[in-house]
Amino acid sequence: MAAQLDDAGAHATVPAANPPRSTISCAEYSKRFTHPLLRSFFGEGGSAQLAALALVLMFAWLTERDAGYAIGGSQAIIGLIADNLRNLGGRLRTGAPVEKILVERDTAVGVRLASGETIAADWVISAADGHATTDRLLGGRYGDVSDHTLKAFPSYLQVSLGVARDLSQQPGYMIRVLDRPLVIDPGTELSQLAFRFFHFDPSFAPPGKTAVTSFIPTENWEFWMRLRQSDLTRYQAEKQRIADAVIACLERSLPDIRRVIELIDVSSPATVIRYTNNWRGSYEGWLLTPGAGYRPLRNTLPGLRHFLMAGQWVMPGGGLPSGLFTARSAIQAVCRADRVPFLWRGAISRARKVLKATA
Ligand SMILES: Cc1cc2nc3c(=O)[nH]c(=O)nc-3n(C[C@H](O)[C@H](O)[C@H](O)COP(=O)(O)OP(=O)(O)OC[C@H]3O[C@@H](n4cnc5c(N)ncnc54)[C@H](O)[C@@H]3O)c2cc1C
Repeated sequence: MAAQLDDAGAHATVPAANPPRSTISCAEYSKRFTHPLLRSFFGEGGSAQLAALALVLMFAWLTERDAGYAIGGSQAIIGLIADNLRNLGGRLRTGAPVEKILVERDTAVGVRLASGETIAADWVISAADGHATTDRLLGGRYGDVSDHTLKAFPSYLQVSLGVARDLSQQPGYMIRVLDRPLVIDPGTELSQLAFRFFHFDPSFAPPGKTAVTSFIPTENWEFWMRLRQSDLTRYQAEKQRIADAVIACLERSLPDIRRVIELIDVSSPATVIRYTNNWRGSYEGWLLTPGAGYRPLRNTLPGLRHFLMAGQWVMPGGGLPSGLFTARSAIQAVCRADRVPFLWRGAISRARKVLKATA
């Protein structure tokens, strides 16, 4: 078993003129198999509720080399985008949470940061979580971005291990069907665990060592949030219990692995929410469920001018490409409204030369 949809490093949701529609989910598709490994590959995990067609498209993109894995992971892609932004004269500020989107006469005019600083703007484009944007940053005055017919991807725990051994003989991705279901939290029991061995990416670990992860989806984000707030000791103990279960499962394939594990890190839905603000700790925004088309959602809010949205909450299926597609649409809309030509590809390098010449 070589790759799983949510972990192939290659999600893409391409808006098409006549988007294909799928009638069954991966979980329904899994019932066509009798082998427990195939049943659990399709029927469990973060992608179970996904339209089966999404899986087919994923494999098609991978086969056609339209999708793939970037050495260095997401960080490498983010680095390229950030460099390009700076080269084009943009400024990037991190570690500056926005507390409020400032609105005057139904027009977005800037943002106020948690530090109290205000930043004026001709346009505000939010790429943050959709619910947090409409409910918290805009105080619910312009409706709720959520389309209630859509369901969000679940949240997740991730056990990450730093192993002092070269595991390049292992597959990149491995599923183990468990003898007994593993209870993750109230309402979440797993019959399989999946592992990724990052030996194919030299940036993940020094020579002779390997980074290994196990991704564990859960819908019960509230349990982890409450536990972290009410009882930090038990929260840590629960994370340790899951790490132990994951390592015990890995030992079935690699019997003496425990003694060479140098680092254990467990993130929970509470971690996801703390770091990304994402609604219910969802790992990828709106699910592409059966019947849903590959169309982006509306990126404006009724009654609010000079405001746009980008990112996974306005593009069902989410993933890294959704950021690029929706950001491009947002900038095109700004250019249209401001009567500025939208520059793309070759035009950007020409613009860069012009900027340099006129600087
Ligand atoms: C374990 C895992 C594996 C994945 N694998 C893949 C994969 O293989 N391929 C793929 O395409 N996708 C994958 N995804 C999904 C992908 O990471 C997301 O869909 C994508 O990052 C969404 O991008 P985004 O910009 O819309 O949102 P985010 O990446 O969530 O970015 C939103 C940003 O806004 C910031 N923010 C939130 N609120 C505020 C505020 N008030 N003020 C300032 N900043 C704020 C957050 O800190 C965050 O940095 C994976 C996700 C996970 C968790």
